[in-house]
This record gives sequence, C-alpha cells and structure tokens, in this order.
Amino acid sequence: MKKKMKRIRREPAPALPLVVLLSSEAVPFSKTGGLADVAGALPIALRKAGFDVVLVTPRYGSVDPAKFRLAKRLKPMSVPLGAKSYDVDTFEGKVGDARVFLIDYPPAFAREGLYRDASGDFADNAFRFALFSRSLFELCLTFDLRPAILHANDWQAALALYYLKREFAAHPLFASTRGVFTIHNLAYQGLFPPAVLEELGVGWDLFKPEGIEFWGKVNFLKAGVLFADAVTTVSERYAAEIQTKEFGCGLEGLLQARAGVLSGIVNGIDADVWNPRTDKLIPATYSEVSMTGKGKCKLALQGELGLARDPDVPLIGMISRLADQKGFDLVEAAADWMMAEGVQVAVLGTGEAVHEAAARALAARYPGRFSATIGFNDGLAHRIEAGTDMFMMPSRYEPCGLNQLYSLRYGTVPIVRATGGLDDTVDDVDELGRSGTGFKFHDATGEALLGAVQRAVRAYSDAAVWRGIVRRGMARDFTWGTSAERYARLYRGLMADALAARVAG
Ligand code: ADP
Repeated sequence: MKKKMKRIRREPAPALPLVVLLSSEAVPFSKTGGLADVAGALPIALRKAGFDVVLVTPRYGSVDPAKFRLAKRLKPMSVPLGAKSYDVDTFEGKVGDARVFLIDYPPAFAREGLYRDASGDFADNAFRFALFSRSLFELCLTFDLRPAILHANDWQAALALYYLKREFAAHPLFASTRGVFTIHNLAYQGLFPPAVLEELGVGWDLFKPEGIEFWGKVNFLKAGVLFADAVTTVSERYAAEIQTKEFGCGLEGLLQARAGVLSGIVNGIDADVWNPRTDKLIPATYSEVSMTGKGKCKLALQGELGLARDPDVPLIGMISRLADQKGFDLVEAAADWMMAEGVQVAVLGTGEAVHEAAARALAARYPGRFSATIGFNDGLAHRIEAGTDMFMMPSRYEPCGLNQLYSLRYGTVPIVRATGGLDDTVDDVDELGRSGTGFKFHDATGEALLGAVQRAVRAYSDAAVWRGIVRRGMARDFTWGTSAERYARLYRGLMADALAARVAG
C-alpha cells in the first residue's frame, strides 16, 4: 500500500527585524575618520546577528556608481524640509549582504569634501545634513521599509531622531520604531546660528537650553541625545568620561541627565580589511605563528620612507588626524628625548597646519630616522601598521580609537594615553613584562609619553619579553562579533519596550 505523503506547507520565513543605520560617511564610499569604518562594518556584523540592515549615507561627488555597482532607483522622492521640498534621488547597492541606499541630491552632496573644503566648513552644512536626515523618512515610505530600529550616528544624522519623535511618532510605518543615537566624538556637535531652524522645519519651541539651544546656537547633537530612546558611545570609559566637565564639551549636564539610557559599546575592527595573514596592501603577510613577514614589512617600510634599514632599531608608527585631540604636541615636546633613545619614527597624517609643519620640521632635523608623510594614504597606513614595532597614540581624549586595535592585530605594540577607548582596549605591561599588551601613560605631557616610550624600548631589548607582549596583543579579539552582539542586545531590549507599549496602548 502506498504511504500517503504528508504535505509540508512551507511558511514564509519570518521577516527579520529591520535596523536602519544612518551615517554621513561609510567605507567603502566615503571616509574622514573612524565613523566610516564603523558604518561600513557594523551592517555586515548585524546581519550575522540576525537583523535585516539598511545603511543610508549621502552620495558625495567622489562616489562613482559604476565603481560600486550602484543602481539608480527610478523613484524620485520629494523631501519636505521647512517650507520647501527637494527632489531627491537614491542609488542602491550592497555592503556585504546588507542593503545600502545613497541619498543623491547633487546641489548638497556632489562636492569633493564631505564637510569642508580648503576654505573651511561648508556654509550650508545645517541644510545638507538636515536634508539627509529628513530624506530617510521618504526613503522608508517610498521603498516600504519598516524600521524596528533607527540608528543615527553623530550630529550629521541626529535630526532624524527629532523628525522620528516629532513628525512620525504616530505614523503606522514608524509607530514601533525606536531610536538609537551613537556619539563617535562629542567634540563635533554641529553648531549653527538660530536662523537655520526655519529652513530645517524644526520648531522654535525647541530653541531653549532644555531643548537644542547651546549658548545661542542650534546644536544638532543635542537633538540626538534628547530624542533617542538609547544613547551609546564607542567605549565604556568614554561613556563615563563625557559625563564629566573635563570631557563633556559643555554637555555633561545633559549627558548626566540621560545616564539611564547611555552606555558604551566599543567599536570592532573589520577583520577582513585589517588582517596581517591576508592583507594585500602589505609586502609580506604573517601571523602569530610565523612572524618573518613582519620583519620583511619593516625593512620594506624603512626603504619606502627613507629611514635607515635596520631590523633591530625600535620603529614607532603614528597614523592620525593631526588635530589637537590626537596629542601630536606631546610628540613634539618629547621628540628630542625620544630620538635620544635611539628609535625611528614614521608619522602619517594630515590636519592642522601647525602640527603638519612640526612633523615636517622633525623629519628635517632627524633625516633617516624620523619620517613624516603628510597626506591621507590608506595603503601606507597598512604598511605602517605591519612594518613598525610600536604605535603611538598620545590622544588628549579618544572615544574609541581604531589604530590601537589594528596595531594589536598586526603585532605592533601600542603606546597610548590612558583615556577613553585606549584605556579600555590596551592592558598596561607589568614591570616584568609578563602580562599586558601595551604601554600606557596618564598625564598629557611630553615627559609622560617619553616615560612610556622608554618602558617600551626597554622591553623591546629583551626578545623573549617582547615576543610575549606581541603574542598577547595578537591573541586579543576586537573583531565586530562581540560588539555587534551588544548592539543586538540593546536593539532587542528597545523592541521589547516597543511591543510592551503597543500591548499596553
Ligand atoms: P578618528 O576617527 O578620531 O580620526 P580613529 O582612530 O577612530 O580616529 O580612526 C581613524 C581612521 O582613519 C583609522 O582607520 C586610521 O587608520 C585612518 N587614518 C587617519 N589618518 C589617516 C591618514 N593620514 N592616512 C590613512 N588613514 C588614516
């Protein structure tokens, strides 16, 4: 007798909760700093953590659709902002298996710089990033995206949370959407004259110190902190620091008031891009079991930068925006003593003219021993990470910092000031060199930096001790998995709150 086949009804797979990530820069499309690295890597990690993800970012002049296989979506959007509306287009593409939409409005974004050009910040930045933030909603309506979480990053995206709560809270598409705001650097707040409010469609009722006013100016970042359901920053230490006068940039009171929803989640690194085993941008690959490649990278780097070729001299790297935040003045203050320790230094950076000039002057004073490359050069950044023995980050403050994480992975021992994410991610080497992954100092002075460099040089002279420090650093895991899980937990908590509110309401 024939057995009756049981019919299995295939249920459609339940839709994954959608996270919409809003960032004004994202690798591989655009980058001025660590935010772009995060925005490029987090969507991929969140996909693995069980979310559907859409990344939304502007299409700047430098983004060539053909190069990134972006398709123009044939649904133009009319985005209202204040009393006017703007015809905005979108390009769609992928980062990993996450979807990305690029907001295309050439009058605002088809420029070479992201936020400024040689003459300074663009005069219409308030309009540009309000339009970017407001476009998100038309994008969701046009392409039927129903975000469980709207995750806005830094001041450029902060107004999205204002629009969510003030304009769209009752809209069926957004009624359950919860907002997350991440501060990547509190020093950049987006300050504009009050006259911009009308153009942005933001109510004057908010122009007060308890709202988004800040000493007579409109403060975009405040909107993010006020209207988000959860606020995060990029390390636990920095989350605590920004509630103090020293690091609070004038917003410590507000951040203390929001302490209940404020937390720190350390950034991960893109383990495919920054991996000494597979890195195509370095002359020889290596791993913790076979470090000979690192020696080759060092000699090649010395050759490339005009430093004396010497496998044994301690070579210290630094890759940085040359801004006051990054503490290059400490390097300047310590330089002569540091060079007397017999080290070589390789600096790569761009930024403030005084620091650029100081770096060039040091290179001129110590030919063959101190090299300064002024510019932004991704390939050289990889070769410095691979080819140096130590890496300096004397930051005055550092929300997270990525280069110390790359350094650990590349067997390059970090020398860092104990602040923010640097303090959270580097463990100080003990006196005997038996524990720890790097060298920390506390005071923001040349002497303190020098002290840490001297400790590092001493440890370097004992090959067994040094090998131990390098190995421990390389074994640390700062890839995105753990950090993405923490965002996932935060999102799920907010989604549960939203569900509870719906049931109660
Ligand atoms: P911040 O975002 O404050 O500039 P981070 O350490 O978080 O600092 O991230 C900086 C990122 O930019 C890193 O990926 C670093 O390698 C890169 N970077 C900074 N300056 C340069 C440069 N001159 N050339 C190449 N890469 C750079």
